Amino acid sequence: MTNLSFRPEDITLPVGHFLSGKIVSGKKNIAVTSPGNGCILGYIPEAGLELVNDAAQTAARVQDESGWATCAPRERARVLRRWADLVEQHAMELARLETVCSTRPISQTIGWDIPFLAEGIRFFSEYCDKIGGDVAATSASLLGMTVYEPYGVTGAIAPWNFPLVMASWKVVPSLAAGNGTVLKPSEMTPFSVVRLAELAVEAGIPAGLFNVVQGTGLATGEAICRHPDIGKLSFTGSTRTGIAVMKAAAESGPKPVTLELGGKSPQLVFDDISSVDEVAARIFRAFTGNAGQVCVTGSRLIVQRGVAEPLIEALVALCSRVAALAPWEESASYSPIISELQAQRILNLAEHSIKGGAQSLAPCLRMNSEEGGVFLSPGILMVTDVNSPVWQEEVFGPVLAMQIFDEDDEAFALAQHPIYGLAAGVHTASMARAMRAIRTLKAGTVWVNRYGRSSDFVIPTGGFGGSGIGKDLGRQAFEANLRLKSVLMAAG
Ligand code: NAD
Repeated sequence: MTNLSFRPEDITLPVGHFLSGKIVSGKKNIAVTSPGNGCILGYIPEAGLELVNDAAQTAARVQDESGWATCAPRERARVLRRWADLVEQHAMELARLETVCSTRPISQTIGWDIPFLAEGIRFFSEYCDKIGGDVAATSASLLGMTVYEPYGVTGAIAPWNFPLVMASWKVVPSLAAGNGTVLKPSEMTPFSVVRLAELAVEAGIPAGLFNVVQGTGLATGEAICRHPDIGKLSFTGSTRTGIAVMKAAAESGPKPVTLELGGKSPQLVFDDISSVDEVAARIFRAFTGNAGQVCVTGSRLIVQRGVAEPLIEALVALCSRVAALAPWEESASYSPIISELQAQRILNLAEHSIKGGAQSLAPCLRMNSEEGGVFLSPGILMVTDVNSPVWQEEVFGPVLAMQIFDEDDEAFALAQHPIYGLAAGVHTASMARAMRAIRTLKAGTVWVNRYGRSSDFVIPTGGFGGSGIGKDLGRQAFEANLRLKSVLMAAG
């Protein structure tokens, strides 16, 4: 295997918006920092109303004039497949860009993010010519049918935690359905999607159909949400911002929204598990993957008394083994925190919870890192009060809150959260317990004896309640980018 390590200063960043097939610069005013070493990578411009308007109107014109929606659907599929091929051909370049700008270690961007991105494009390409409809021939002279059509232009707003993959889950199904799209990445991770957009044009996606605008949520994101030419929105980010997006969509349309929001996902462990070590490793990965900066992080552990002690022992041992290596080192597997501000928020939340009575079993502390990134060690807090902040609030960091239960009813009651319903994990050898979990847990995804998604793109992801509306991936994400027209045709 080639050595994956590289130096961040050797990476060329695509700085700017991406409009009509070209990188466009502007007054540079937002500093972008590498989480790997805390150094400023560059400054991006910020799109205001005028530039967002330009991006949306261009996408609308190109969508209309290029025949993207009206060409043979298999032609659209072919272009998307070529895009996926180009992503693979540029895998190392994209992986390095993603690693420099985000919290994702190189072994993971090259091993997971980029292959997942390419396969995701192929997955949606397969739906291009599978846009169905219903037919009702109710009488000799009347034919009724439903016809799906694209919205025209969709708006996509993405978070910083998996910049390429999250953006692709919005942009690709929209393009596959025949739309144009305007994407705003997070202002903290703005670069890699620009390279992805360049590859889209190289693959044959008409220039101007997929535009990227840079900027903050308030200046640029809100302008996308309110733009009259944008017919549908897809947003991934915090619940608080999701509510603002929905409000803007309501006031400027109303227009439909897909919202993938925050979570506080429980993991239930019953005392019938066959291997404590195996389950401990699963739980550990579920709350430390990307240093907990994952929407579906399994951040609440609900464990039956009989296995609590050995499970805690195994988890604490795993917590002591993480290393703070810059993400561009081949052997790095543990992520830095996206920013100093976010690290401070995580530490404050843990400290506040401890002051309120939570007991620290493994401390979440700053770790020394040679290159200067902010790393926090995985922490475990035992709580008895369900109102403890660490039990209620999304930490978005490597902190696990745990409680012990005796009876099954207690565990299922503890698992429900008053706001969030994104995902849940159940670790048990009992089919009856697994079935009960699947039926009763208020979560968009329930994992049994595993935690985290697989590469089965057909199984979508999305939350209940405060965790969102609609789905990413799956047939559902594709269909959400189409609207249904009803047609009745009378003879003569
Ligand atoms: P965030 O809500 O702060 O920002 C997300 C995006 O929204 C960014 O691009 C931001 O610039 C933009 N934005 C901010 N204010 C806006 C506004 N008023 N109008 C329009 N756009 C606006 O979230 P984040 O910190 O980037 O990401 C972390 C959050 O995302 C966590 O809560 C996490 O759970 C969630 N998330 C959810 C999923 C999922 O699939 N459910 C996946 C990844 C992340």
